[in-house]
Order: sequence, then structure tokens, then C-alpha cells
Amino acid sequence: MKIQLATKPLSEIKSDFVVFPVFEPEESTSNLNSILPIGKLEIIKQFLSDNPKFGKLFESQLLYTKDQKIILLGLGKKSKLDFKSLQHWAGAATKSSLTKAKQISLFLPQDITLSVEEIGQAVAIGAEIALFDPSKTYKSEAEPTKLVSVEIIVERAERGYQDGLKRGQIIAEGINLVRRLGDMPANDMTPTYFLNIVKEIAKENKLKLTVLDEKQAKKKGMGAFCGVAQGSDEPSYMIALEHSGNIRTKDKMGLIGKGITFDTGGLNLKPGNHMNEMQYDMLGAAAVLATMQIAAKLGFKSNLVGVMPVTENMPGAHAQKPGDIVKTYSGKTAEVLNTDAEGRLVLIDAVAFAQQDFKATKLIDLATLTGAIIVALGDFYTGAFGNNPKFTQDIIASGAKVGEKIWELPMDEEFDEMVKGDFGDITNIGHGGSMPGAAGSITGAKFIEAGVKDNAPWVHLDIAGTAWDMKPKPYRGKGATGVSVKTLVELLSNT
Ligand SMILES: [Zn+2]
Repeated sequence: MKIQLATKPLSEIKSDFVVFPVFEPEESTSNLNSILPIGKLEIIKQFLSDNPKFGKLFESQLLYTKDQKIILLGLGKKSKLDFKSLQHWAGAATKSSLTKAKQISLFLPQDITLSVEEIGQAVAIGAEIALFDPSKTYKSEAEPTKLVSVEIIVERAERGYQDGLKRGQIIAEGINLVRRLGDMPANDMTPTYFLNIVKEIAKENKLKLTVLDEKQAKKKGMGAFCGVAQGSDEPSYMIALEHSGNIRTKDKMGLIGKGITFDTGGLNLKPGNHMNEMQYDMLGAAAVLATMQIAAKLGFKSNLVGVMPVTENMPGAHAQKPGDIVKTYSGKTAEVLNTDAEGRLVLIDAVAFAQQDFKATKLIDLATLTGAIIVALGDFYTGAFGNNPKFTQDIIASGAKVGEKIWELPMDEEFDEMVKGDFGDITNIGHGGSMPGAAGSITGAKFIEAGVKDNAPWVHLDIAGTAWDMKPKPYRGKGATGVSVKTLVELLSNT
């Protein structure tokens, strides 16, 4: 989509809709304070003085003047304005105009605490996410999108706005890639399809690609990954992409994402309710792929490797059986007590692959790993688990800056006992708690941690509650959210 900056008076704006932000009144201010000098209009003043409480986030009102259609769109309280609310505000303005307008103009709020770069970035991300609606892809008669252009009206066209918009569009392109892949059904979004997309992105962005098929992964000793893959007829792949942005350092960030393109649970078959949503079990891998694309496009001056183990988890004739013992790539043996706890199995090998073969010095894995994280944190927080408090805090702070909530859970050594195996070194189901499933997300993290060598800084992000959302929002259709991409990009921009 075309997103451009403009400085012009209201009378010269030719867009189908002109959108004004209105702040919700607070103790010392009225919503009339929102009116920008550049767009002082009697009709707006009149409406706001008749509706003194107007301005809650997403509250909207259409007003007609002789030449224009004006939308007043609430932005919530000014004291609470942050990156996320501005992003969502721009998204709501865009989404409500998709089928009704060819071009809209957005007046930006003035005198706010965000920098002009951040404002540009938030607005571009919001608009691009709202524009792309993956739910239309398979519809024969979807209402066509008319909107092609968003004009951003500012008082002074500072350079920072332009930089922010450009950066925001690149980030949004990555987020929309995650959403597109996530919302594709599993009969189309197979491991092979995913690999083909990786190949395109690698070529376009000059990222170094390494692919192991199942045979090669087996030969290498990735018994945990291959154990999951063997139940499916679809070919599976262990994929790595490298970005080299700084040859003067050996520092290298490893990003590892769970890529189960469909999770039936394996022989420990899942119940039928909502099993269709298990097409989203690859969103960790998709987020890693998107982050690698963005890192290349923004020219990050750091070294990265993105590892994506991609497979289905199926109960085929060759499927692994509960009780099987596999040898992980890290060297430890693991008892597979439940075939539905497959994410940690593919990840323990993928993390070791990043560390042993690509010499990653820091590790972040992302996974739609456990339902237990939703029990603990609901749908709003990603869970973080780590072995290095500073590194974990850096990631949480990066998320907070761009409006992605992350909460750290404990990883004390008492929990190690819960993943000790009876016959193998470790087991993929925690045990020993006073009720079944006790500390289910932590034991998942503990299993993956068992594959990390030399105490390298490592963080596991459990995105099972945040990676997709079946409730449509004013700023985004339902489906995959693209969570964690913004957080990782923010973190990597500062390293
Ligand atoms: Zn599973």
C-alpha cells in the first residue's frame, strides 16, 4: 500500500475520508483539546462540545461537511497513549475504510511522548496489518478491498516520520507474512510449502540457506526431531537461515521457532474440539522467518541464525509411540511419554543445531508450546523462561516498547526434577507435582533447556496464548497475530 506524508490544509485534502484523532477527556482536559490547529472546524467543535465524553479508543463518529467526510476516531486517554494504542488506532481507521474508500487521510496526534520515528512506525504497522485480511484468500466472493493509499497529515514533514514509516512497512510486511502462512490451512501450508517460501526469501535477501531432510537429520543424530517427523507422510525439514551483519565479532544470535504445520497430537491424539486451530502450531517458525527477512531488509549489523524445524505431528503407521526413547542431537536421551508434547522434542534438536553447527552464542526459541501458558497468563501475555536474567529482561523490555506483553516465569532448579527420566535422561512430560500438569509450561521450558550447552544465554518464549486470536478486532481480522516479530526486531536493532 502507498503510505505517504503530506503537509497541507484540510481544504486541500481530496481523500474519501479524513480521520481526526480525539483524546478521551481526563480530569484537567477536555476532548476539545484534541482539535488540531490545522483542522479547526466548527462542525467538529460543535460535536465535541455536545459529546464531552467522546474519545474512548476506537469510538468513532462520521461527520459530513460540504466537501468532505470526516471521521472522528477516539484514541483513549492521552496519558495512556503508547506505541500499541497508536498502532491500533491507525489500524482501526484503515480497517473501517477498506471497502469504502480509495484513499484516506490521517491527522496525527500532536504533543505526545512518542518520537516521530516511533509515530511513523506505529502508524505504518497499524495500517498495513489492517489492510491485509487473510480470511479473504479462500473466499470465492469476498468484498473487494478498494483502499490503496493512506496519506499521513503532519504539521512539519520531519525526516524521522519518513524513516519510521519505511521501517514500519518493512516490519509489517514480515508480520503479514506470518499471518498469511499461519492462516493458510494445513493441506496447503505443508512443510514443503514452508520450505519453498524460505527459499524465495533467502534468495531475495541474500540469506544463507541450509536444509536437512529427514534422512540427513537422522544421520546427523537428531533423534527427537525425526521421532516426531516419522509419523507423517509429508517430508519434514530442519531449516537454517543465516544473516551475517558483522564479521568483526563472533557474537551470533540464534532464533529458533517451532514449525509444526499441523499437530494432531500423534498417537496421543488430541480431542476433536478446536483441533483445526492446530494449523497455527508453526507460528514460532514463521516469526523466525519474518524476523530474518526484516533483519536483511533493514541491514542489521549483527550476526543471526534462524532455525526452523518444520514437520507435521501425525499418528501415521510409523508414528512414534508413547514410551519410545530417542537420542537428542545434544546427546541426551529423552523418553517420549506423550507424543502430543512434540514441540519440545523438535526444539531441543533445533536449539542444539543453532548452537553446535552455527555457533550461536545466544539463543531465543519461540513456540506455541503449551496450553498451560494460557491457564497461567491468559491470551494477553507471552510467557518467558530463561537461564540469564539480564537477557530475559532485555527481551521483556523490547516487547514493552512496541506493545507486546511478556511475563517471566520461574526456572528454579527444583523444577529440573520434574523432567528427569526413569529410563532416559529426560522426559517430555513433567511429573512429581501434586496435580497432573503441574507447572506444565515450566517443565516444557526445562526440557528445552536441557539441550542448551555451556550455559549460553537462552530464553524460551511460549506464544501459545498470543500467536493467534479467533476474535476479530477493530484493527485486525481474526487469525494469526504475528506476535513476537516486533519484539525481536526491537531487540536486534539494539544489539
Ligand atoms: Zn502437541
